[in-house]
Amino acid sequence: MSLLENYESPWMDEELGILRDAVKKFVEREFAPHATKWDKQGFVDRDAWNKAGEAGLLCASISEQWGGGGGDFRHEMVLVEELNKANVTGFGNGVHSGIVAHYISAYGSDEQKQRWLPKMASGELVAAIAMSEPGTGSDLQAVGTTAIKDGDDYIINGQKTFITNGMTANLVCVVAKTDPNEKAKGISLIMVETDAVQGEGGFTRGRNLEKLGLKAQDTAELFFDDVRVPSSFLLGSAEGKGFIQLMEQLPQERLIIAVGAVAAMETALRLTSDYVKERKAFGKRILDFQNTQFKLAECITEARIARTFIDDCAMKLLEGNLDTATASMAKWWTAQKQCEIVDTCLQFFGGYGYMMEYPIAKMYADSRVQKIYGGSNEIMKLLIAREI
Ligand SMILES: Cc1cc2nc3c(=O)[nH]c(=O)nc-3n(C[C@H](O)[C@H](O)[C@H](O)COP(=O)(O)OP(=O)(O)OC[C@H]3O[C@@H](n4cnc5c(N)ncnc54)[C@H](O)[C@@H]3O)c2cc1C
Repeated sequence: MSLLENYESPWMDEELGILRDAVKKFVEREFAPHATKWDKQGFVDRDAWNKAGEAGLLCASISEQWGGGGGDFRHEMVLVEELNKANVTGFGNGVHSGIVAHYISAYGSDEQKQRWLPKMASGELVAAIAMSEPGTGSDLQAVGTTAIKDGDDYIINGQKTFITNGMTANLVCVVAKTDPNEKAKGISLIMVETDAVQGEGGFTRGRNLEKLGLKAQDTAELFFDDVRVPSSFLLGSAEGKGFIQLMEQLPQERLIIAVGAVAAMETALRLTSDYVKERKAFGKRILDFQNTQFKLAECITEARIARTFIDDCAMKLLEGNLDTATASMAKWWTAQKQCEIVDTCLQFFGGYGYMMEYPIAKMYADSRVQKIYGGSNEIMKLLIAREI
């Protein structure tokens, strides 16, 4: 659809254009043919990570010194957008490269960076971040998982749930209380290499949770039963910094969700524009009804507003100026609009829109979680309201 195709984000350049083409071809060749199988089995094949690593798509925004691609947030945006365009959802690279790699890059010692980042870039390590617990999600200060010092080790006990890449990950960034008597000040981030501690009386995985959407993403329960890790796996120089570290990285995490939301809106509108030009009712194309024209005009306008807003946020992030409130605005508003626009688009497909063989149906199911994870939309509004 020319209205979407003719708009190019101001941050795009020739190099990113080459990356976009390469990612598009990679996704078409290596991921798209398996997407239905991945949706059915509930996880992305493990070797997809190695293939993505070989193609240079993991840790694209991490320094080359640590095995990354040497790019920046724009490179992550291109990846998120191309996966969304192909309607390949569930490959948890946003968590792996966009979140966990950045925690290690920002707070890890050189030794920690050397230990984990090159293997994350190659796909040998797949990362997850374990914040949420059965008893607490939004209220992170209330996490019950503990990591108590014992000689040169930490002993971790607790339970996590809803963890993206949970079944596949072999490197987990665990949010735990190193001082259970404190709230935020007691929180630390500790890396767990799962292969070393897996098994009875250690680290175990629970169910791969059955979800409404994002079927190919393994979202799992994790259990820590006296899991012993070296104290050198604490991220940062001192205990109790975890909450501040989380807060510092959240604008980027929220923007990644917003980028996915905008890409999904644009994909839904492309698919729908094509469909309403083909399908006929009462002797006319569906597009010829004024209702269709007005609704799509509204959606395309909102998608453009969302696009220009996240482009502006991305440029602010690159300059180091994306504040928490603005990132929260981007996350809640684009997630909300994604759900509305995908719903409106689905309606134009009639009964076919409800059939899983039509991509719009998968997009509808996938969209719903965007308002929940990464900080729910209500929490986003709280963060904005704090600045009023
Ligand atoms: C598919 C999926 C993937 C996920 N991936 C991860 C992951 O990789 N790592 C991870 O740690 N977590 C992950 N999560 C968890 C996710 O971040 C949490 O579900 C989310 O933060 C909400 O927490 P909760 O589910 O405990 O809801 P609750 O905190 O119990 O909230 C329930 C409802 O109450 C509202 N609410 C809560 N507090 C307030 C308040 N103060 N004011 C107004 N309303 C409020 C919330 O907005 C929500 O609508 C994932 C979740 C899903 C569904």
